[in-house]
Formats: sequence, structure tokens, C-alpha cells
Amino acid sequence: DQIVIERALISVSDKTGLLELAAALTTGGVEIVSTGSTAATIRAAGYDVTDVFSVTGFPESLDGRVKTLHPGVHAGILADLRLEAHEAQLTELGIKAFQLVVVNLYPFVETALSDAEPADVIEQIDIGGPALVRASAKNHANVAIVVDPVNYGEIIEAMAAGGSTLKLRQKLASLAFEHTADYDLSVSAWFTENVYDQWQDDTEALDEDATFDDDDDDDDDDDDESPFPEGLGIEVTRDAILRYGENSHQAAALYVGDGGRGIAQARQLHGKEMSYNNYVDADAAVRAAFDFSEPAVAIVKHANPCGIAIAKPNAPDPIASAHLRAHACDPISAFGGVIAANRVVTLGMAETISEIFTEVLVAPGFEPSAVELLTKKKNIRLLELPADYERSSLELHQISGGLLVQETDSFEDFSSNGWTLVAGPEVDAATRADLEFAWKSCRSVKSNAILLAHAGASVGVGMGQVNRVDSCHLAVSRAGERAAGSVAASDAFFPFADGLEVLLDAGIAAVVQPGGSVRDPEVIAAATAAGVSMYFTGERHFFH
Ligand code: 5GP
Repeated sequence: DQIVIERALISVSDKTGLLELAAALTTGGVEIVSTGSTAATIRAAGYDVTDVFSVTGFPESLDGRVKTLHPGVHAGILADLRLEAHEAQLTELGIKAFQLVVVNLYPFVETALSDAEPADVIEQIDIGGPALVRASAKNHANVAIVVDPVNYGEIIEAMAAGGSTLKLRQKLASLAFEHTADYDLSVSAWFTENVYDQWQDDTEALDEDATFDDDDDDDDDDDDESPFPEGLGIEVTRDAILRYGENSHQAAALYVGDGGRGIAQARQLHGKEMSYNNYVDADAAVRAAFDFSEPAVAIVKHANPCGIAIAKPNAPDPIASAHLRAHACDPISAFGGVIAANRVVTLGMAETISEIFTEVLVAPGFEPSAVELLTKKKNIRLLELPADYERSSLELHQISGGLLVQETDSFEDFSSNGWTLVAGPEVDAATRADLEFAWKSCRSVKSNAILLAHAGASVGVGMGQVNRVDSCHLAVSRAGERAAGSVAASDAFFPFADGLEVLLDAGIAAVVQPGGSVRDPEVIAAATAAGVSMYFTGERHFFH
């Protein structure tokens, strides 16, 4: 099983020990075939070397991507000369066999750990090298494969002893497979971190539930800029034991923290204790109402708005006007709702509310006459927001065994200036204002969200459905006759035209959505065919 070494292929990135090896091979009368810089190094030291291109008859090309990937090389490595047929074929093809292959791979890990650009790291993924290594290792019955300069000594000794033994070749083959496996693991780890994540971002348009986010992902590891300290950095203290949690058999408490300017520190002026669900809904309502700079009211049930509206222009009592219009969106659902206003509650607003069963009314303040009126009602809870109320900048979501933390969706530019008209004619100013209103309102509706609006008020909300078509049906059925002529907003793109068709059939006047689906052309074609204007915002607002 001893194999005399007559011909060696050497292709090494790490030139450590190369010349000692070349010297020993030359002394042993071994023909050395070599690639680009390996051949140059050997030749410069005064040893004879055959360039691999004279074996392949093919220039080393494509910036070194193709050097040894050639049957002239690989047949010489893979031929099993225990088989007469292989030997005969080599002779027929004019290919000489190798008995020794010495390869070490491109310094992928070193490059990946440096500041190199991704493209440069990718260039360091060795292709031909691993092919040489694996081919030789597979054919260890005939070929000795050396992937590490530490083993050069053993080869030199073996040559002196008359050739490589099977035992040595088996050991070297095993080291070789280990080496290529390690190498590919490094490539794969780097890929997952640097390429796959990127790829996910780029192709998320294929997936309705994927994140629509364009520009923030390269610096995941950049701790300096991360708003997330290694520990959470959020201190909370227990503020109150709540009567119970989401249901009466669940114990619950309120913890307060994070600067203390959020809903958790609102002052209760009247009514029964705030419940767990009251807090959840009040938070959602405030979130919706405070998205607007105009006087605005949101009415929430089960964390979803069933009405959002801004005041009618020039209304004598703007916040009362906003409330009336929000209530009109869906009076059935508004029963037992949680109402948030972004202005002081006036007597006018209080008068209407006193007629409607309401769980919680939360606002930055109350006119004394409004408090006087509302405190006559036993059931309503009045909650006054801290004067410097602000939403928390972080959102925490508990999952079993951990906590998800994200920055709050604090996106603020809801103006239509940056939108792209993709179907139909430009809309008039009033419709444009409605689209902006709908687009903004829609972000406080749980996904999949479709919100129909008219004249600064929601008229139909489709929320929390597991497909967008159902959300469209829901919005349209809630709006009833008001769907016709209203505008629609969708929190994320339409993955197919089917959802939009529901809205078009209902007679909507215009639609705004992020866009970004692979089927955008279909969706645009549907809007165009209906003569309905459609704008893309490029920004989506999932809310779960
Ligand atoms: P040299 O420095 O001799 O020009 O190239 C040596 C390196 O090229 C070695 O690390 C070897 O693994 C790699 N190599 C050999 N053949 C090929 C090939 O056909 N394609 C690629 N990408 N790399 C190769």
C-alpha cells in the first residue's frame, strides 16, 4: 500500500514551509505542478515547477476563481489506479496522475474577521481548493492530501522511506475532511449573519408577514448605536395589585417605570379601580389619539380602535366633534369602550359620553364641569394623563422564557409628500387629506389592518384578521353605505389583488398602502382598471 510520489500538485495560500517542501520534492525527483502565486514562490526560490495552466491548457481565469477546476487536474487526482480501467482511461486522455496534493485554503476566516467588505469576504470563499482537498481525500487509496504545513514533515519522511503508506494517507484524508467541514461551517456561519439576514430583508416583499425595513440591518452588532443595553436598563417598581388579570382567575399587578410619563402613571380621578384590560385598552386608545396633532379621539375595544376621528374644521367644540365622529364610525362596538382624547375633555364631549356606557375616558385634562357631570356616573373611570405624557420609546413583549424588546413605532412623517402615485389620477386636496388621515389611523389598528375613512373620520375598520381579504370585508361591511366614496389605507401591502378588489367593489375613491409585494403589478392593474388612485408609501406599520 506504499505509493511512490512522482507528481505533486501544490496550491497554497499560506506559504509557510512551502520552500522546504519544494526542496525535498525536488530532491526526490518529484514533478511539482502549481497555481499562480504558489508556482511563482517556488520558481523564485530556484526550483522547477509546472504551471497548472500548462496542464489544463486553460488560463487561470476570473480573478482566480477558476484555476484547478479542470478534468486535466481532477481526473489526475480521482483516478483509482487499483483499477485497470482508470489507468487505461488516463492514458487515453493523456492525463498524468498525482500522488500528492498539498492545498491550504483561502483565508476566509481571517478576512471575515477583518473590516473587509462583504464582497471581499465572499471572494475569499475557496472553491477549487476544497474540491482538490475532497477529491484527494476521497481517493486516499492513491493520493496523499496535505492541508496543513505541520504535516509537511511527515510527507518528507515518507518520501525518504519510499512513499506514503495507506495509514498515513488515511490519517491525512481524515484531517482533510475535517478541514473542509470546518471551513464550510465558518462560511455558513458568516453567511447566516451577514448575507442571509440581508437576503431576508431584500426578499421580505415575498412574505406578507415579513418585516418591511430597508435600512437598518447592517449594523446589528453595533452596540454603540443600539438602544438596547445588555441588561434591559429599565427599572420598574410594583405600583398596584390589580383585581385580576385578563380573566378573573388570573392574578395581576401593575408595575411602573420607564421614565414614568406613560399611561401607567396616569392619575385616576374617578371610578372603579382600573383593571388589567382597562390599562391595555387605554394605552391603545391613547396611542391612536396622540398620533394626531389635530384634536382627535379614539375609541378602543379589546385593544383595537372601533373609531378614530379628528375634529371637523372650525367645529365650535373641536374635541366633542372628534368624539361624535369617532363614535359614529361603529356605535355598536363603541358600547363599553375605552375613549382617549388628545385634548382637555370639554363639557360638550362629557355630555355625549354620559349617554354612552363607557369603561374608561382618558385625556390630558378635564374641564371641571365635565368632571362634575361624569362623576355622577358610577361606572366610568376618568384617567388624567401626566402633563408631559409621552409614549415609552421601547415596547416589551413577553414570550415564554424571554422578552422581546423593540423600539416603539415612532414614525412621524405621515404626509403624502413622499408617496408614489401608482394608479389612477392625482387626487384632490380633500381626498389627499383623508388618505393621510387613514394612513396614520391605520397604524394603531392591529394587523392585518384596513381602515376606511371619510372627512377625517374612520368609517369602517377591519382589524386583526389573519388575511387581508377578511380585513377588507370587515372594513367594508362595517362602513356599509359609507364605503362608497371613502378612502382606504392598508397597514401592509396587498399580497394579491383579491383584498383590494373587495374595496374596489365597494366603491372606494382612493387607496394608500406601503407597496412592495412581488405581485404589486397585479394590484396596480386592479386599481388602474377601476380608475381608482393608489399611492405607495414605502413604509409599513404592522401592529400586533
Ligand atoms: P495561488 O496563491 O497559488 O494563486 O492560489 C492558491 C489558492 O488557490 C489555494 O488556497 C487554493 O485552495 C486555491 N485554489 C486552487 N484552485 C482553485 C480554483 O480553481 N478556484 C479557486 N477559487 N481557488 C482555487
